[in-house]
Amino acid sequence: MTEELNPFKIAQKQLDKAAEILGLDEGTHAMLREPMRTFIVSIPVKMDDGSVKVFTGFRVQYNDARGPTKGGIRWHPDETLDTVKALAAWMTWKCAIVDIPYGGGKGGIICNPKEMSDAEKERLARGYIRALGHYIGPEKDIPAPDVYTTPQIMAWMMDEFSKMKGYNAPGVITGKPLCIGGSKGRMDATARGGMYVLREAAKYKGVPLVVNEENLHKPYTELEAMDDPEPEGDVVKVAIQGYGNAGQYAHLLITRLFKNVKVVAVSDSKGGIYVEEGLPYKKTMQVKKETGSVVNYPGAKQITNEEVLELDVEILIPAALENVITKENADRIKAKIILELANGPTTPEADEILHRKGALVIPDFLANAGGVTTSYFEWVQNITGYYWEFEEVYQKLDRKMTAGFWDMIGAMDEFKEKNIDPRTAAYVVSVRRVVEAMKIRGWV
Ligand code: GLU
Repeated sequence: MTEELNPFKIAQKQLDKAAEILGLDEGTHAMLREPMRTFIVSIPVKMDDGSVKVFTGFRVQYNDARGPTKGGIRWHPDETLDTVKALAAWMTWKCAIVDIPYGGGKGGIICNPKEMSDAEKERLARGYIRALGHYIGPEKDIPAPDVYTTPQIMAWMMDEFSKMKGYNAPGVITGKPLCIGGSKGRMDATARGGMYVLREAAKYKGVPLVVNEENLHKPYTELEAMDDPEPEGDVVKVAIQGYGNAGQYAHLLITRLFKNVKVVAVSDSKGGIYVEEGLPYKKTMQVKKETGSVVNYPGAKQITNEEVLELDVEILIPAALENVITKENADRIKAKIILELANGPTTPEADEILHRKGALVIPDFLANAGGVTTSYFEWVQNITGYYWEFEEVYQKLDRKMTAGFWDMIGAMDEFKEKNIDPRTAAYVVSVRRVVEAMKIRGWV
């Protein structure tokens, strides 16, 4: 039988597993299997050559029982409604596992931003908000950046929404530039949150990661200015697949927040590189910036993106796209901890194989919840009009991520006799929280 790779089918299958464990009634389960609201819009954009191109945009508001829906907007040539639905479902579980007062949503536009000018991107961003502006808002649905969308795009969107309303509404969207209400610490938030859960996971699994207490809540700007440290003592090896926002910051942070880490491999869409002595962050970033890809790192051994996953390392960080760990390669993965900074990198079959092997997969909706958690802090700052320092953001983020991790472990213990995998355990925690809200509101 071929493995099912439709992300929404995967999201439903993951939910079904948790629903069975929790003994959910049919109506409640049915309500959680589908989004509450789905918008499909056509966005006409005047292109630079004078032609008009019509783009298709999506916004899915999956479940708002716990609060306004929240989630990013992806701009991708292969975007589909099912991908957006899956990601909106995952946002629902993500906001619930870290216990922030949001439901889940997601948006997408089928487009290739790499082939568009800045002026065309701006018109597309504004067009998306004109099409959907009445259905979003600080108390309704709050978008954010995701694959190929940037703080600049968030700024245009916030501006368009504010024009529609007739007043400044920074709380409508998060991941904004700092000067118009962005939060300190949002830039590295996804990777930063991942590091805090990784620290807890290492304690749980007995991987000897040594925390650098001094750097733990230091601004990423200060960490970036430091020279690459030499790993000390009992070295822990790491491989990172993907070198976008999450992958790059994971490289920076893992080598600064811990004292004994060596990143031996990284990759991007062009391929991977392996360096036994470890890849320094600064030089790798310089090569990426100057040449467009990490593969041009001088003297590195060239490997494929698949090989990056199968290296002899303690920690593996998939930080690229969906479905990279499948039943075909799960058996060959050697890492003890897999920190899913990407959304949906592991298929359900692969999850089972890894769990049987004793690897701890920190599921995406917990591992990468640092992004949305810091978005929540940004929204709180916007609606209160009072802005926080880096340390305050990181400390609050640390507490949320740590609590989410141990709540997941608590559910694994609770259902010990069923030997549930960590993703299912995290689902159990999140689904319970959403169901509690739906029940108390009288929906089900
Ligand atoms: N796009 C990010 C995610 O998948 C962040 C969402 C947000 O900040 O609302 O979690």
